[in-house]
Amino acid sequence: MTKRIPEPFRIKMVEPIRMTDRAYREAALAEAGLNPFLLRSEDVYIDLLTDSGTGAMSDRQWAGLLLGDEAYAGSRNFYRLAETIDRLFGYPYTIPTHQGRGAEQIVFPELVKRCGSQTPVFLSNYHFDTTKAHVEIAGAKAINVLTKVASDTARYDDWKGNFDQAELLHAIEIHGRQNVAGIIATITCNSAGGQPMSMANLRAVSGYAREMGIPMIIDATRFAENAWFIKQREDGYADRSIRDIVREMMCYGDMLTMSAKKDGMVNIGGFCAFRQDEDLFRAVQTRCVPMEGFITYGGLAGRDMEAVAIGLEEAVESDYLAYRIGQVAYLGERLRSAGVPIQYPTGGHAVFVDGAAMLPHIPADRFPAHALACELYLEAGVRAVEIGSLMLGRDPVTGKQEESPLELLRLTIPRRVYTNDHMDYIADALIAVARRAETISGLDFTYEPPILRHFTARFSWAEKAAARLPAAEMADA
Ligand SMILES: *Cc1c(COP(=O)(O)O)cnc(C)c1O
Repeated sequence: MTKRIPEPFRIKMVEPIRMTDRAYREAALAEAGLNPFLLRSEDVYIDLLTDSGTGAMSDRQWAGLLLGDEAYAGSRNFYRLAETIDRLFGYPYTIPTHQGRGAEQIVFPELVKRCGSQTPVFLSNYHFDTTKAHVEIAGAKAINVLTKVASDTARYDDWKGNFDQAELLHAIEIHGRQNVAGIIATITCNSAGGQPMSMANLRAVSGYAREMGIPMIIDATRFAENAWFIKQREDGYADRSIRDIVREMMCYGDMLTMSAKKDGMVNIGGFCAFRQDEDLFRAVQTRCVPMEGFITYGGLAGRDMEAVAIGLEEAVESDYLAYRIGQVAYLGERLRSAGVPIQYPTGGHAVFVDGAAMLPHIPADRFPAHALACELYLEAGVRAVEIGSLMLGRDPVTGKQEESPLELLRLTIPRRVYTNDHMDYIADALIAVARRAETISGLDFTYEPPILRHFTARFSWAEKAAARLPAAEMADA
């Protein structure tokens, strides 16, 4: 059993959360059209929808808010942020943005322009949703070349966030190196389950990029969690400090984009930064002004930049990371030892439950992992999110429901918010749901919006009556 690591903080301020009873949750979920996205947060006891912007700031960060210099230009908090980024990453040129996608929307069009191709592509281990969206808005194609072992949820592998190097080289050959506008290394790889990328893989991919003159972008959103995995798992890194590992990871990139809502430990914020290309930095600054705001605030208040600067330093503390990654691993291990199928090993920020394996009787177009999300809420007031066919959507040409290779329920753990007791509560609830898995029904749409449907769709149970019967009676029904 994974060691239970006590929280490396004590609690100075509390935010009450409300336990509700089953009847209350039945009504709330019905009101929300059986879509947990449409629940009021106050009706949720433990919210595992995302780790984005949901973390708790430290007393130092809150104190930092009072030091906000709200000058339009040249705020002292901007300089502190830029100095912190230079110290941690070795990137002297920083542009703050309102969040990660703000950085993406000003960097990618510039890279496409510089590439000059009529058919530009970006290659990544896996483009995060907004990354893919901004690559496409910039007129380029987003191609993922993730290691194949990532899709085998049950098989242990240290580096399920790696690039498949052969696939990468093959993709460059097919598309032509002159058409590759950039290579994006997402660390950790969010869409693969917060799985890490090894230093060796990062070094190799960066080597190809340099050899071929392709810009190398690091999506640094969970850089500290990735560094922790390298320290734990990669030969030669056990005795290196997290800061040292972060410095090395970043030396393989030419630029980075970052959502500070994750490893920046703040509720809002982001930035992009450049290692040495001052021309590119200036060009992206020019794009920043009309889109995000002036170059020294980029959509953030001065106080927000102060909190990001402090948060980045806290994210690389070993005690914090041991607790953070340990807490996620602990939840995963409790589920696994009770026979709940999860992606193994767990990644940095979430436990992914294999909904298809847990509910094999529900077909992809009745959304097994979404059914699980509903049941988990009804059971215990815990809100999680489907990452599967519901999120994937329909083929834009044929209108046919696409079948996702994986039907996952993501239990995303906010940073420094819930205690290990909460992890036990979540595990107990999901184990109880697993025990009555065969009684759980799939869902049909009662309202299906045309795009990004998972956020606002409404549903009914496919077999509501049958789903409420115990398993033994169902056989006769
Ligand atoms: C969250 C995220 C982004 C986008 O950041 P926002 O702050 O949500 O705009 C980009 N890349 C990855 C890997 C992310 O997890």
